Amino acid sequence: MLNPSANRMGTESAFAVLARAGVLSAQGHDIINLGIGQPDFKTPQHIVEAGIKALQDGAHGYTPSLGLPELRTTVADDLKNRYGVRPDPDLIQIVPGGKPILFIAMMLLGGQGREILTPDPGFPIYQSAINYSGATSVSYGLVESNGFAFDADDVLSKITDKTSLVIINSPANPTGGITPRSEMDKFVEGMAAFPHVTILSDEIYDRLIFDDEPLSLLTYPEIADRLIVLNGWSKTYAMTGWRLGYGIWPKHLIDYADRMAVNIHSCVNAPTQHAGIAALTGDQTCVADMLVAFRRRGALITSLLNGIDKISCQAPGGAFYAFANISQTGIAALDFQQMALEDYGVALIAGTSFGGFGEGYVRISCANSDEAITQACARIDTLVREQS
Ligand code: PLP
Repeated sequence: MLNPSANRMGTESAFAVLARAGVLSAQGHDIINLGIGQPDFKTPQHIVEAGIKALQDGAHGYTPSLGLPELRTTVADDLKNRYGVRPDPDLIQIVPGGKPILFIAMMLLGGQGREILTPDPGFPIYQSAINYSGATSVSYGLVESNGFAFDADDVLSKITDKTSLVIINSPANPTGGITPRSEMDKFVEGMAAFPHVTILSDEIYDRLIFDDEPLSLLTYPEIADRLIVLNGWSKTYAMTGWRLGYGIWPKHLIDYADRMAVNIHSCVNAPTQHAGIAALTGDQTCVADMLVAFRRRGALITSLLNGIDKISCQAPGGAFYAFANISQTGIAALDFQQMALEDYGVALIAGTSFGGFGEGYVRISCANSDEAITQACARIDTLVREQS
């Protein structure tokens, strides 16, 4: 007998599209993959070598469930370096990718009778984990006319006595939108009226910002006792497949988060943790170089998409996604996704995979070469001409 909550669990369609694109490629179709959100770069060599060396040196065993002490200290130092705030390493939890922090947070703070605020469009796992926990998800809209930033007043207005958690994400998946500091200030100020509410700030794209100053909620001491920060190595160091991320927890939650990890995965594999130390302590030129490439490609894809009749696209402020407005084509987002992949060989993701506010949009990753992006946009142009 299946636990009924299993049916409330959602998924991430980017993985389904990735699988289908793989099948079509294997059948000999020419597919350009702009679906999944992962850097197309290889993990920098010095990071790979640190992982290999750790294996050769015998790092084969379990590590402490919260992660290697040296890695947790390194994360704290890195944040001090970048934001001037050094979290207590005892409150840092190393996990396999950033995702487990979402699931653990929802398991700890969700449940029947609770409400959790989540962005729409937003990373689909937010909604899925909220639903699985039994809590009610309450969406706040991110709209193009506001640069896909969140509106602090709107978010605050949705908080009730039942709200246990508010999720925020900037730079955002799927829009590449960035919430400006002034709005973040307003949000934090407004949260003073709701001391019962925890905040989860998903900062996984905080090193992929094109023009604005990076901003972490860690820099607001007034919410430190109820802030969960999610971050990791996947996007910054092209390490999606290694599975390495971290959470920073309030003091009263870290032991529960640890218990959850021990129940699920025990710890992250040791060589990957050593690679993570090398990533944070090594030369950061690799990060700067990837950022330059993503910025150039973001500008390229925006200009190509804006050149297509009936499509418009705001320039992303960060991350590596273009969130293109296709509403003028008259094609529903999911139909657009299916046609693009099956008939035109372009893997992209329907905006509706990220919530109802995503209708009329598709997410196109720019984590691919200039040539692939150019060719994909030409195919999208043909799709629109032929189908709309
Ligand atoms: N948060 C956001 C907003 C993401 O886009 C992703 C990955 O796409 C994650 C978290 C999870 O990252 P990871 O692959 O490290 O689990």
